[in-house]
Amino acid sequence: MSVLQIDFGDDSPASPPRVVGIDLGTTNSLIAFLDLTAPKVIPGADGSPLVPSVVHFPASGEPVVGAVAQQALLTDPHNTVYSAKRLMGRGAADVAGELSLLPFALAEGSENVIRLSVGGREVTAPEVGAYVLRQLKQNAEAFLGEPVTQAVITVPAYFNDAQRQATKDAGRIAGLEVLRLVNEPTAAALAYGLDKRQNGTIAVYDFGGGTFDISILKLQEGLFEVLATNGDTHLGGDDIDNLLLRVALEDIASEWGIDLSTDNEAIQRLRRSVINAKHELSTLPATTIAFDYQGREYRRHLPRDVFDKLITPIIDRTLAPCRSCLADAGLTPEQIDEVVLVGGSTRIPLVRQAVRALFKAEPHTELNPDEVVALGAAVQAGILSGEVEDQLLLDVTPLSLGIETMGGVVSKLILRNSTIPASATEQFTTAVDGQRNVLIHVLQGERELAKDCRSLARFDLKDIDPVMAGMARIEVRFLIDANGILNVSAKDLRTGREQSVEIKPSYGLTDEQVEAMILESFDKAEEDFKERQVREARVEADRILAAVDKAKQNDAWFELPAEEQAAVDLAINELLLSYHGDDYVLIQRKMEALDHASRGLAETMMNSAVRGALKGTKIE
Ligand code: ADP
Ligand code: MG
Repeated sequence: MSVLQIDFGDDSPASPPRVVGIDLGTTNSLIAFLDLTAPKVIPGADGSPLVPSVVHFPASGEPVVGAVAQQALLTDPHNTVYSAKRLMGRGAADVAGELSLLPFALAEGSENVIRLSVGGREVTAPEVGAYVLRQLKQNAEAFLGEPVTQAVITVPAYFNDAQRQATKDAGRIAGLEVLRLVNEPTAAALAYGLDKRQNGTIAVYDFGGGTFDISILKLQEGLFEVLATNGDTHLGGDDIDNLLLRVALEDIASEWGIDLSTDNEAIQRLRRSVINAKHELSTLPATTIAFDYQGREYRRHLPRDVFDKLITPIIDRTLAPCRSCLADAGLTPEQIDEVVLVGGSTRIPLVRQAVRALFKAEPHTELNPDEVVALGAAVQAGILSGEVEDQLLLDVTPLSLGIETMGGVVSKLILRNSTIPASATEQFTTAVDGQRNVLIHVLQGERELAKDCRSLARFDLKDIDPVMAGMARIEVRFLIDANGILNVSAKDLRTGREQSVEIKPSYGLTDEQVEAMILESFDKAEEDFKERQVREARVEADRILAAVDKAKQNDAWFELPAEEQAAVDLAINELLLSYHGDDYVLIQRKMEALDHASRGLAETMMNSAVRGALKGTKIE
């Protein structure tokens, strides 16, 4: 991509425009720049570089952003948007669960792109993001004393195409040219200058406000590659806040005999004070949760060991994703060379202890964990603007990409885990004589059939040369740029006619869905199928065993010759033996054997039933 020079009219026209680095976070956002050689975060008017990712849309007047908007969470929660990052590039169906937790009303027509109804207007998630970005841009312009128009923005490594596209859109709306999107863990590693070690394996543990991400990066010859990611999109400092809030509310209920849980204003104030207490406990051995309400004072002494005990289950929930991530990357903890801590919640000593124990290594904590991603973005920005020696950062595509071909099968062009930027070109042909149009159906996923993959886009290549079936030559080209955005083009090589789309899927996938799609891939499907057969066989075996068991209570059993009884018992035992194995064919064979052995019993029962019926006795 060529970058246009912008002339700001200053007296050194040769100096390239400054590119800033931005961490657009779920909870907090920051902007940073490369100052000579070291990256620095830029403070806002209040002196803090952290801009809460909150936007208040008042009924009249301009929206406000950051700490001021956070105040509005108290007074006007329905018109105050937070956690907009969770809605980026999503449709209503993707975030149904999410929305039930957020107090915003959706506008009509939010199926494909979420529109929030706030402050008497409708806004999309990228627009909300753009307000935050604009605030950051303003802070940077005030601080640097020059216009800021180009940026690198970070995104979670698992963000899919739609989510990345939405993030770029947010930048564009805010008047920023987004030169590149960089994965957050890669940015963190860059902030620590880990690229300088040339080779190694790096784990980035990011525990923020509402999300937990673990990523494993491979560094080879100074290039980063994401080997695996995992995490929990609903795990973070907020969970700790909620826990402390519950404890305090229970205390208050039992001390004062009043239930504050429906008093919004009181809850928000109490939340503020438990968060303060939590922050203090990261450096102090004890603190006090303080809360005043209608002339009453609530004070709860909270030593760190009690706090640690309370939050242990929350911290433990970060460990399973870490282990899965290691397993996906095919690594043991000992094979990790560097561990980087990211996110405000990694200030908590117990978190550091847990990470240390898991990876058996001392994690990097020299930089501020809530600044490290923005600092890394600034390093990448410096690389792009030529301030730092050029360097490529590699990322991978999470899922395979391809097109639908005859018979509804998928022809994959770019395989899952390909490093990006990536491109692939393949030739296809027509199926019908004189065909004039071909449908290009772009798919994402690991399954073999189009119906099992996710449809990203469809477009027609029209007016191709109407030749015999199989004679046309249609060249399809996939290109994923450095931001992970896909462009698909199709060209009739005879006429030169070409058609292309930039994929902006109407709505995105959750990371669990991506995970699920991978798991569903062909190999796994075979295993799943086998598993299902075993389960079904067991269900059937249960049914037969129960029936035979019941038959053995019947008089008919005792009428059977001894050797026939022995044969039935043997067949039962053999079925039971096969039951717990995973060979469903064997289970089926043993069921047939039992069926066969108990045929005499069934007949005898039938006969006696008939006899009973003839006698007029009621039979079951
Ligand atoms: P995100 O990446 O989700 O935008 P951050 O990395 O900014 O979030 O982390 C925000 C979280 O970090 C909040 O839950 C906040 O309470 C928590 N946090 C910030 N400072 C501390 C601290 N000193 N001790 C414990 N938690 C902290
Ligand atoms: Mg973050």
